[in-house]
Amino acid sequence: SEWRPFSDSVKAFAQQQWQAGPIINGEKQSGEIQAVTAPYDRREVVGSIAFASAEQVEAAISVAAEAYPSWSQRPAGERAQSLVRLADLLEAHTGELVALCHREAGKTIQDSIDEIREAVDFCRFYADQAATDFAEPKQITGFDGTAKLLSYQGRGVFACISPWNFPLAIFLGQVSAALVAGNTVVAKPAEQTSLIAFRAIELMLEAGVPAGAIQFLPGTGAQVGAPLTSDPRIAGVAFTGSTETAQRINRSLAARDCEPATFIAETGGQNAMIVDSTALPEQVVRDVVRSAFASAGQRCSALRVLFVQEDIADRITSLIKGAMDELSVGRPELHSTDVGPVIDTGAREKLLTHIESLKNQAKVVAQATLGEECQHGDFVAPTAFEIGSIDVLKNENFGPILHIVRFKASELEQVIDQINNTGFGLTMGVHSRNERTYCHIERRARVGNCYINRDQVGAVVGVQPFGGQGLSGTGPKAGGPHYLYRFTQDVFNA
Ligand code: NAD
Repeated sequence: SEWRPFSDSVKAFAQQQWQAGPIINGEKQSGEIQAVTAPYDRREVVGSIAFASAEQVEAAISVAAEAYPSWSQRPAGERAQSLVRLADLLEAHTGELVALCHREAGKTIQDSIDEIREAVDFCRFYADQAATDFAEPKQITGFDGTAKLLSYQGRGVFACISPWNFPLAIFLGQVSAALVAGNTVVAKPAEQTSLIAFRAIELMLEAGVPAGAIQFLPGTGAQVGAPLTSDPRIAGVAFTGSTETAQRINRSLAARDCEPATFIAETGGQNAMIVDSTALPEQVVRDVVRSAFASAGQRCSALRVLFVQEDIADRITSLIKGAMDELSVGRPELHSTDVGPVIDTGAREKLLTHIESLKNQAKVVAQATLGEECQHGDFVAPTAFEIGSIDVLKNENFGPILHIVRFKASELEQVIDQINNTGFGLTMGVHSRNERTYCHIERRARVGNCYINRDQVGAVVGVQPFGGQGLSGTGPKAGGPHYLYRFTQDVFNA
């Protein structure tokens, strides 16, 4: 039961208890307390959380609305400076944040380190961009030769609503973009990862973001998320989460009798990979196992449906089985662990129901085994099925479950159609050594991110921006050149 080498500074925090609750105008609020337990062992208490009341939601929106004029009028460079200080503070507190990500979200130590790195990258990237793009009005020369000025301002109060699977990176990515673009923010983290988000907001205040500019409201979607999105004082919503919740928020925003809100949604997927007979089997299997089972399949980019050309399907499925037999599922702080727990008991039950129902209609290719140490946590054994068609999958299954479909070489176009027809458009993978084939698939794929001859899990701030199309999101891509602009309104000085 050793910790990874990095972890002396993490170890110091491993036994700590964290307390969190709403933060309104810089003041920590009290409320009804509930215990937070670790996904890998529900007997282990990590801390406690007070969710926000209806009165606190109301107060937070009022404070953010009042603070908007002064925050939005600060020079963009000054707003950016506070994000740079936040990035420095995140780095200085890496040990504690890694311990928190591990204990509250059940992430492996490596996933937790990557999480903090990505959060830091988001803060620095958006700070740099705002300081460059929004500091001075842009001079535009009209067709008639006259010079005009174009400037970018915030839109008002943004609600930032985030998921639990990247509890620091996505949470801070949204909040830092909204703030640096000149908006004030009411941030609602996922209820499963409120402690991590609370520490991030404490550090944000320490970094110099004014108390009025950032309000923090932990709580459920129904009790905190829904009242936020129906409030007419909310000028924009940045949301990452499931497609169903995005649709609910869209309806709630549309039902308001006020000016329309900006809605930025990054949502779910039904991500496929196509493997043709020219692919290198060992490389395919390495990438498939990583794409489907890294982070216990709880990445939005994760591979769900593997289409394999029938000529090499037996070889690929037998190698997948071999690789899955080697997967070690267990406590996420151990050196030896490949796959940790899923986020909560509700997620576990949903995934187990899907596995049980598929067992009646599909062939199990492989199922990893769960060790003794898994019995007190929310673990799901990584499972691979061979299914007849992608049509049997109605929803995104957000966990370590892989579905394999065989196809004939002559059916490639139908395969691409079937994938596109799911309506989702987040990620797609291709393994082929035939350049014409992979370029053709890439051209026809209606997805935000297409990965060729590699694993399907990459999103790198400023390098490989990430986001989907169709049911998978509105764009623009997070960590890309256009994201910040969606948080602004442009003013033309004619
Ligand atoms: P979720 O939709 O259940 O919850 C997301 C957030 O919405 C949470 O904070 C939740 O409390 C809130 N919420 C729920 N109901 C609400 C309502 N009626 N009004 C307002 N807010 C509400 O999603 P999740 O389980 O936290 O996250 C997993 C999902 O997120 C998966 O579908 C995954 O694919 C998706 N995801 C997408 C991306 C991407 O970049 N496209 C990234 C990460 C996760």
